[in-house]
Amino acid sequence: MKTAVYKLDRFSRDKYESAMHRHTLKMNGVKLVSAMENIPDTPEGIILESLLEGMNQYYSAELSQKVTRGMRETRSKGNFPGGTVMYGYRVVDKKVVIHEDEAKIVLRIFTDYANGKPGNVIMDELNAEGILYHGRPFATSTFYRMIVSEKYAGIFRHGDEVYTNIYPQIVPTEIFEIVRQKAEKNHYGKHHGDICYMLKNKLYCGYCGRHVGSGSGTSKSGKVMRYYRCNGRSTKAGCESLPVRKELLEELVVNAVQEALQKTDLEALADGILEQGKKIAEDSSVLNLLTTEYEETTRAIDNLLRAVEQGIFTQSTKDRLEQLEARKTELETKIACEKARSMLVISKEQIMEHLHAALKRSPKQLISYFIRKIVLFNDHIDIYCKSIENHDPDGNDSHREFSFYEVKMTVEVDRHTFGGEAEKQTYAVVLWI
Ligand SMILES: [Zn+2]
Repeated sequence: MKTAVYKLDRFSRDKYESAMHRHTLKMNGVKLVSAMENIPDTPEGIILESLLEGMNQYYSAELSQKVTRGMRETRSKGNFPGGTVMYGYRVVDKKVVIHEDEAKIVLRIFTDYANGKPGNVIMDELNAEGILYHGRPFATSTFYRMIVSEKYAGIFRHGDEVYTNIYPQIVPTEIFEIVRQKAEKNHYGKHHGDICYMLKNKLYCGYCGRHVGSGSGTSKSGKVMRYYRCNGRSTKAGCESLPVRKELLEELVVNAVQEALQKTDLEALADGILEQGKKIAEDSSVLNLLTTEYEETTRAIDNLLRAVEQGIFTQSTKDRLEQLEARKTELETKIACEKARSMLVISKEQIMEHLHAALKRSPKQLISYFIRKIVLFNDHIDIYCKSIENHDPDGNDSHREFSFYEVKMTVEVDRHTFGGEAEKQTYAVVLWI
């Protein structure tokens, strides 16, 4: 049989690959002709259509492979790999270069922090001087993401690959290491003397949405009791949430997360995360626009073809058809690129690595690195986990979670701040990612 491909260049751009494809097709008894001149108005046209559709699918799959390969090449050439450009850098001619003014601020932040200046003081000073982060005052989350970003030490990681040729180093390695250690120690959980409230900053009240803070009291026997307690309880309106003993809640959360990680099929979970990511990518506005235009173009082509079937075939229908086909091809490429791009943001390997790493972490690290947010009710706890190690540096939290594990845990709680009878309380703990 013979088949037509609307335009050879949509079929393959590269001469070598084109030859390969021709060969494969020939081996399979398909003759390739370049084709606008040959629009079939026979039942064969139906077969042709499905063939072309198959070709397109093949072409898209091949394209996303190419994009992956291209991205790897981009990285090994030391070109900007995409994503958000870190504060302190700009992209010029595909290369990441140092933005001198911002780099000075970055270095100042690291040096101050290494010298023991607390993060909030550094931020206050910067904000007081009117120094902005991408036009906004420095926020706590931005600040802490910055001081642990290896890019400032000249290191860019992609899965297992380490690149030192992409981000020029702003912060000397020794300073970076000091800061990293300090940040790991200080950021997660505020210290009260020697007491670390591990869940603080991540814990929210399920009833009023406020931060759940810490509190302590001394029991009759003179023992200090520490609690997590909703900040809304002290307001006029009050809040129905009950305080929970610090150690108990921390243990409960850590146990639930560890159990979830042990009992969940991590590979299936990673697939689920990717699937979710794909859905979101498909929802993205750029993709929506492209897809809408693609559908409209396809419809226009269909209408024209129908007109052709009815014998209306003039130079202008032909021209219009060519235009539409060209646009359709262009859109297909753009859509495939857009999809490939969004899928490349995280790989299954990265997710698996992150999940396996979480399994090995100490309780405190587990909370720091794996848990994003905890919502506390009196008989229910929602734990929101991170699907990858690093979040978008600009805090784009647009992802949707799904629950992947549920467990009921019964513990003896002591609801009275100053000691009292313990009572049994069952919590339904749900893990989200
Ligand atoms: Zn509350």
